[in-house]
Amino acid sequence: MSKKNKKWSEDQMGTASVWAGESPLFTEGATVPPVSLNVAYGYEDLDHWYEVALGNEKGHIYSRNTNPVISVLEEKMKALEGAEACTSFSTGMAAISNTLYTFLTPGKRVVSQKDTYGGSSAIFMNFLPPRGVDVQLCDTSDFDQIEEEISKGCDLLYLETPTNPTLKIIDIKRLATAAKSMGAIVVVDNTFATPINQRPLALGADLVVYSATKFLGGHADALGGILCGSEDLVKQVYGYREINGASLHPLSAYLIFRGLKTLELRMLRHNENAQSIAEFLKSHARVEEVFYPGLSTHLNHEIAQKQMTGFGGVLSFSLKGDYETVKKFLPQLKLARLAAHLGSVDTIAGPPKTTSHVETTPEERKMLGIPENLVRYSAGIENSQDLIGDLASALDAI
Ligand SMILES: *Cc1c(COP(=O)(O)O)cnc(C)c1O
Repeated sequence: MSKKNKKWSEDQMGTASVWAGESPLFTEGATVPPVSLNVAYGYEDLDHWYEVALGNEKGHIYSRNTNPVISVLEEKMKALEGAEACTSFSTGMAAISNTLYTFLTPGKRVVSQKDTYGGSSAIFMNFLPPRGVDVQLCDTSDFDQIEEEISKGCDLLYLETPTNPTLKIIDIKRLATAAKSMGAIVVVDNTFATPINQRPLALGADLVVYSATKFLGGHADALGGILCGSEDLVKQVYGYREINGASLHPLSAYLIFRGLKTLELRMLRHNENAQSIAEFLKSHARVEEVFYPGLSTHLNHEIAQKQMTGFGGVLSFSLKGDYETVKKFLPQLKLARLAAHLGSVDTIAGPPKTTSHVETTPEERKMLGIPENLVRYSAGIENSQDLIGDLASALDAI
């Protein structure tokens, strides 16, 4: 039985991670999709070639446009997201910028939040305004202000939740409802949550965008971006990506596809580990503040509980002290890679000023509410008692 186009319910995500979007057998009976590294597809019948090129018949022409292993990955993501359509990109930033540039032509107005991924912030602050786009960035936790700005005119609402690196939570349903009443397209960056923890389309979003580089791939060995949503909107962005050329590499597509097989399993462990670690850090004398939506003390814990089925693998915490304290603390960790990454099976830690927000100035970070004594910690899938032990020793050493 083909697992293509089957609908999967939310309590079937473990099965869907493994089976969704796959054919029973691929070329020559292969049970995993062969990686087609070829650039072009050959045809003996010129009429058939022409019909495929026009999109009237199934097939592939040129790998900047489509490629078999990439199509399998897109089918699986489409099923996990419960979306009508899916397309892919070379990186998460390509997915985000292609989506924004497709819909935000001169004269359009985009409403978003101040806390978005550093690269996305840079697009909003530096690249869209010179192209005649009116960009309105609101206080991330002030939903009244966001609603007010939406009501002044909005062609696209762009949300990211939980946010990077302070794990703020945005009320997707409330803001999507406001944006829809203005006829806006609602885009949600769901990188931190993944479809295992949060399903933005069911909460009113039109498009869901991912850095597949993070939890979707999950092994820190492939860059990629994903966009899911309605056939009509995804097709428009695909049309732009096909021409500007930010296509996913087939080998990366295969690695992300393989990562997806264990997505539910990994996310459940990431959720569990981050929750235990957040609770441990919260009561530690050397820790000033812990940011994690799974803590009952989190500003928007209630909204998180309503719209998420798990709180994710990333948390952040500020140390009592300054950046010098962070510099002493981080190298003490034995079970964490100090790197500008997150969402891998390995635990990864780093300060926002050298990771997510390296593109921003100290003043901008201050404006964004990112303290210099903050540590971002992406809990891997190790045993939680080992990670807690490692954090405890490192905190004792400062
Ligand atoms: C990493 C990240 C991106 C950018 O993805 P790349 O694959 O590095 O281009 C976008 N949004 C969020 C939330 C991220 O964490």
